[in-house]
Amino acid sequence: RRVQASSRGETLPQGQFTCPEEVQSQGVPAGSPIPWGKGGVQPGQSHTVSRLFPPRIARCAAYKEFLRLYHSYHSFARRCDMIGIIILPIAASYLIKECFIMAKMYYEKDCELSYLNGKKIAIIGYGSQGHAHALNLKDSGCDVCVGLRQGSKNWANAEKAGLTVKTVPEAAKWADIVMILINDEVQADVYKKDIAPYLEEGNALAFAHGFNIRYQQIVPPAGVDVFMAAPKGPGHTVRSQYVNGKGVPCLVAVEQNATGNAMKIALAYIAGIGGARAGVMETTFHDETETDLFGEQAVLCGGVVDLMRCGFETLVEAGYEPENAYFECIHEMKLIIDLINKGGVGMMNYSISDTAEYGEYVSGPRVLPYEETKKNMRKVLDDIQDGTFAGKWIAENKNGRTFFNSKRANLAKHQMEIVGAELRKNMLWGDDADPDTASN
Ligand code: NAD
Ligand code: MG
Repeated sequence: RRVQASSRGETLPQGQFTCPEEVQSQGVPAGSPIPWGKGGVQPGQSHTVSRLFPPRIARCAAYKEFLRLYHSYHSFARRCDMIGIIILPIAASYLIKECFIMAKMYYEKDCELSYLNGKKIAIIGYGSQGHAHALNLKDSGCDVCVGLRQGSKNWANAEKAGLTVKTVPEAAKWADIVMILINDEVQADVYKKDIAPYLEEGNALAFAHGFNIRYQQIVPPAGVDVFMAAPKGPGHTVRSQYVNGKGVPCLVAVEQNATGNAMKIALAYIAGIGGARAGVMETTFHDETETDLFGEQAVLCGGVVDLMRCGFETLVEAGYEPENAYFECIHEMKLIIDLINKGGVGMMNYSISDTAEYGEYVSGPRVLPYEETKKNMRKVLDDIQDGTFAGKWIAENKNGRTFFNSKRANLAKHQMEIVGAELRKNMLWGDDADPDTASN
């Protein structure tokens, strides 16, 4: 019915012809006239497209292509509403394809580990993700080596864990699959110097996050597969869950399919690190990068840390003991999140008292004013989508990380960190400082 109404070229009331925020991803600032055709649509003019597409569509490549087509025919379309009859079914098919089809999921039964048979896998970097991928793949029976800088303090650790270690160029030369698990901000330099010269046709280049591909810091040669195996969790949890017979859900994406088997290899890799036990969602480098950056900034790291810090400070400033504030606002966060992780908010609400649940409904929106928070989150997302955040982060690294380092140093001095360390020391398990056992 909406399609019919729109195709009649119904006139929208004045004042609605500003660019919706979802179109900003096409480089149009919010509030400017919608750029349908030359000069945009003016108040009082009719147009047929903007109301048909929810934000999910406005973001996707197919829709952008559709918009391009629509723009080229716009002057014709203005004279002849018949164009709607041609364009709208095309639009509808995009709509169905991009909007209403469920995310594509894979599980262990959909992954054939045998696609890694005879393949040598180099894990470049031995940090949070690196140690987890290398050890999980080794335990899954794969032929793995770790690529590190000569003199890296991790060299001995990796060897102690039973892994073969080579320098980065040696590892890249040896391997059929090169998984880059060093810090995002140094990947481009290391890739250019120590990896690219050794990539051969038919090799695969792999990532756990799309930053360098999405923002074109790394441009791989045409003859190699480029895939992503991105665990949706910290590397130490990727290891601990694997050891416990579980896994961290992963995103899979193929940017280049040179061999024709890139997706099969990617899924095999994810099965090898245990991710397929929990579920693998197919996506693109583009979407993984943007959602991942958004999640960690707005909710998981930025949002949660500041929420806990605000709560802690509020109690301490009101005269309560910091120890109490730590237990209440920080330690208990994990216990609450574990319930949500296992059974959704429903299971958490079932376990807490009705008093707590009532407080959740009354005070949640007071500390987190919805409309304002969402507007701010939208700004965070805009900065990620238009490359502002990536540009700042790249510049911060070129300029010696002054902002980053001072923030890190300040956080380490915060009372919540000091009190927490003291309390954790005396917990029965307080001598266990291994992040690999943090998830239990
Ligand atoms: P990390 O900081 O824990 O470890 C990076 C490793 O790279 C370290 O061992 C470091 O010594 C090594 N390294 C740094 N510079 C190097 C150089 N010039 N040459 C060789 N080695 C070098 O990194 P991480 O958090 O595991 O992140 C790795 C990748 O995984 C990133 O792309 C990140 O976005 C992605 N990822 C991380 C997580 C996570 O939980 N940490 C989650 C999902 C995806
Ligand atoms: Mg993430």
